[in-house]
Amino acid sequence: MNNLIKSAQLFDRAKKIIPGGVHSPVRAFQGVGGTPPFIDSANGACLTDIDGNTYLDFCMSWGPLILGHQDPDIAKAANAAIAKGCTFGAAEASSLALAELITNHIPWVEKLRFVNSGTEAVMSAIRVARGATGRNKILKFDGCYHGHSDAMLVQAGSGLTEMATPNSAGVPAETTINTLVAPLNDIPAVEKIFATHGNDIAAIIIEPVPANNGLLLQQENFLEKLAAIAHTHGALVIFDEVITGFRLAFGGAAEVFGIQPDLVTYGKIIGGGFPVGAYGGRADLLDQVAPNGPVYQAGTLSGNPVAMKAGLAGLEKLLHNSPYTELEQRTLKLGEKIKSATQQVSPVPITVQVAGSLFWIILGDITSSDGIIRSPEQIPSAHKDHFRQVFHTLLTSGIYLAPSAFEVSFLSTAHTDAQLDDYVAAFSNAIHVLAKP
Ligand SMILES: *Cc1c(COP(=O)(O)O)cnc(C)c1O
Repeated sequence: MNNLIKSAQLFDRAKKIIPGGVHSPVRAFQGVGGTPPFIDSANGACLTDIDGNTYLDFCMSWGPLILGHQDPDIAKAANAAIAKGCTFGAAEASSLALAELITNHIPWVEKLRFVNSGTEAVMSAIRVARGATGRNKILKFDGCYHGHSDAMLVQAGSGLTEMATPNSAGVPAETTINTLVAPLNDIPAVEKIFATHGNDIAAIIIEPVPANNGLLLQQENFLEKLAAIAHTHGALVIFDEVITGFRLAFGGAAEVFGIQPDLVTYGKIIGGGFPVGAYGGRADLLDQVAPNGPVYQAGTLSGNPVAMKAGLAGLEKLLHNSPYTELEQRTLKLGEKIKSATQQVSPVPITVQVAGSLFWIILGDITSSDGIIRSPEQIPSAHKDHFRQVFHTLLTSGIYLAPSAFEVSFLSTAHTDAQLDDYVAAFSNAIHVLAKP
């Protein structure tokens, strides 16, 4: 058992003055119970907490760290930037360099603007879509996460209606009346919504590989049809690539699927571990943004030079090393090893869904016809409870996963083959906890 004495003390103090003791809800471990280790330092694929426990990390700060913790090139660039000044609030060159790197290598990003988070990127892209089309409605998908702006904080309405209802207190129903929700992997439902609301829909927004509610694999032809329906009705396509951008390929899921969105949002990897987001796309759409156009959007620390130089160092390394094929092969192999190590011994069926270096282990019976989970309602109901038990056994044996059954795991270039084998061993050991009465 890990000694979490100091973490427990800090958690008690934190809970007194910070909601849940944390600054983003899932960090509080409420989905799995127990005390979250307070992390003191990290390196490569490992975390060390303040009690001195070390963990092999598969949460990786929820996605930004594709090159691992403390990548030396990113750290060097950030330190050099700090030495010249943390923020200028004025025109400067490093944000231009990062913008050029992106527009030179991702053809559908003709122009872009940097913001400070994925949430901001989505909020801004939606404003541009509405401003450019003169329409108000946005169609999103049940099971996709687009940050915590009011209009995106919705769930599917009851029954068969496409009207969204807020899924947070503090979001007035008036704020979400222009948000429509469709099921994933269901073209007829999308066609039906467009038949009713087609002239009012500014854009479809989707995570092309939904990775915030498990890993819900979509088919290329679903995404192609979506784009065709949107365009037929004069609506735009926004790919939210905050998690998949620079992760599945340099050009994200759009590159993998060969589908060019009108607008795209980035975050996570783009800042090299610093708070950065970006929205970009067709030049005529970005020309709508202030000061050139009527769509207002601003930020005190946007394009912060420390974050820009860190992001630039990270993206240059990704371009140069192109680790994507190797990362995906290693992730697939990890999935195979987990399956074969547990096949004979696991009390429950185990499935591993993979996209690039993202993976999600499902603990329970999958009943969908093709054996692949593509929408939230296909997730086995027992998965959550199984995950909670396995999670704690893994944590005790030094494996740190995102503390939720519905979060994906991340492989980085810093994970070694030996570490992945350690995970396979720890996992096939941990799975026995499910057999206990
Ligand atoms: C993480 C994420 C966001 C929100 O980004 P933040 O930086 O947490 O605000 C939005 N969309 C997707 C697809 C994400 O994965």
